[in-house]
Amino acid sequence: METCKHLENLTTSDFPKPKTPDACEDCLVEGTRWIELRECQECGHVGCCDSSPRRHATEHFAKTQHSVMRSVMPGDAWTWCYVHGAKGELSNAAARPELAAART
Ligand SMILES: [Zn+2]
Ligand SMILES: [Zn+2]
Ligand SMILES: [Zn+2]
Repeated sequence: METCKHLENLTTSDFPKPKTPDACEDCLVEGTRWIELRECQECGHVGCCDSSPRRHATEHFAKTQHSVMRSVMPGDAWTWCYVHGAKGELSNAAARPELAAART
């Protein structure tokens, strides 16, 4: 895995307000269903995950090259960089020492 600087020290306040809270913007347009939702850090676009039929979050990256997203599912606090294929954690999320210790 390549080193990714995009995800370092990200907090929830580094993300804009989701444009379509609790919905995939593109699924709303197409009338398709989503499973989980991801929010783009660059523009607040909300798209569906790779387990969803249309994978709009990944499509959004392919179209826009906006590289960083986060999960907006309740209880989730992880981030993802498409460019580097790297996963991170929002640093102001609930403390999870077992994960912090595992990261180097
Ligand atoms: Zn990155
Ligand atoms: Zn979708
Ligand atoms: Zn975007």
